[in-house]
Amino acid sequence: MANMSPMFVRLSGQTVLLVGAGLVARRKAQALVRGGAILKIVAPHISEDICELSADSSFHYEPYQTAHMTNVSWVVAATDDQQVNMQVYQDAIARNLPVNIVDRADLSTFTLPSVIHRDPMLIAVGSGGASPVLARAVRGRIEAAIPASFGDLAELMSRFRQQVKNTITSLDDRRRLWQNVVDGPVAEAVFSGNPQVAERLLQEQIEAAKDQTTAVGEVFLVGAGPGDPDLLTIKAIRLMQLADVVLYDNLVSDAIMDLTRADAERVYVGKRASKHAMPQQQISQLLADYAQKGKRVLRLKGGDPFIFGRGGEEIELLAEAKIPFQVVPGITAAAGCGAYAGIPLTHRDCAHSVRFITGHLARDGSELPWQELVQPQQTIVFYMGLLGLSNIVERLQQHGLPADYPIALVEKGTLPQQRVVVGTLGTICDEVTLQQVRGPTLIIMGQVVTKRDKLKWFDAAN
Ligand code: SAH
Repeated sequence: MANMSPMFVRLSGQTVLLVGAGLVARRKAQALVRGGAILKIVAPHISEDICELSADSSFHYEPYQTAHMTNVSWVVAATDDQQVNMQVYQDAIARNLPVNIVDRADLSTFTLPSVIHRDPMLIAVGSGGASPVLARAVRGRIEAAIPASFGDLAELMSRFRQQVKNTITSLDDRRRLWQNVVDGPVAEAVFSGNPQVAERLLQEQIEAAKDQTTAVGEVFLVGAGPGDPDLLTIKAIRLMQLADVVLYDNLVSDAIMDLTRADAERVYVGKRASKHAMPQQQISQLLADYAQKGKRVLRLKGGDPFIFGRGGEEIELLAEAKIPFQVVPGITAAAGCGAYAGIPLTHRDCAHSVRFITGHLARDGSELPWQELVQPQQTIVFYMGLLGLSNIVERLQQHGLPADYPIALVEKGTLPQQRVVVGTLGTICDEVTLQQVRGPTLIIMGQVVTKRDKLKWFDAAN
């Protein structure tokens, strides 16, 4: 059974005796001042930066004596002298004052938690004296999981609290409304820095709740990155945990799908060997239909949704129908494959620019701007280029690139199965046949490819 219980204390105006003025004491002083406390600091030496923390505090440049424990409400000791700590503890207990001896859970009637500030909301973490390092690690995770703008949401909700109380009489309805606010477009609008939109949406939801109509949902167009789930953004993960419906396709790995809500409805809209892909128009319509039913819809895209992802096409219809949506960038295949293959896409020695180009066109005989692609000092990245590779190689050589021009193919980049096949314009097609390279594969061309010899790190780990 735990022997501590968290509580929030109104510290403002209360005096806290702080014995000690070292680094640890300084951290405690900072936290206490932030909580509104007036400090009475006792230590033979007190550095100026502690003195600057608060104008209300008083300073006693001398060793601790029992007489210091008058007119204080709380006691904290952070000295490295165990005798002094023990004296402070005994004096406080004798006076029935709550006391905290830093790093001595056994000599403390309270502890100061690690605090995540989302003012007016506060989140406190304590390890029950087991390990402050552990509490800080947990705090780090919470910091990352709860957007910094959560406080803005708390502020908005408190501003509308009375209005909602007046308009919606049923407690259940009110609870449902607030739940939708926290999980839905209102919160998302706050987090993405659109307070006016948030306020308008909240007004609409209050109206809808009053008339018992269904409020419209929202669509999240999210880049899932190249495959390694660790490369998802914090925002992507948050929205993945939120969505009621997920529309996904081939480029999204199972490991990533596992991070969506377990009870979410999954709709496959990609290409499988036997089946054709769902036409784009139909996908857009599906997104709109689900959202209009009030669902939060996640459209997960491999890489970045706006880089060869048709993301723009999919949300056009939503924009026309005034359905709220958000776009979350992802790590595009070029960035992911470059990093995990040890091939920097630009380099001061040999590549001053990088160009992303679709190889799709090379397959159906359309022309690419070959003359531009053979210019020196650049890196060319072909997406969807594997099937058209022989054509690409041939045309680049016709336009003047030498047969020994470096080229790398990255298959299933960033995934544990990643393979990198390095060659030259002259050899790469034979390599592809020999090594049976399959998709998804990214093609990187240029002198930067040669840097891989020295910089590769990921294959080695596999
Ligand atoms: N929106 C995606 C690209 C979609 S086009 C993005 O930003 O990455 C599909 C092409 O992307 C594939 O044909 C392949 O060239 C490339 N690709 C996507 N994921 C890849 C991966 N993990 N490894 C190698 N290439 C990848």
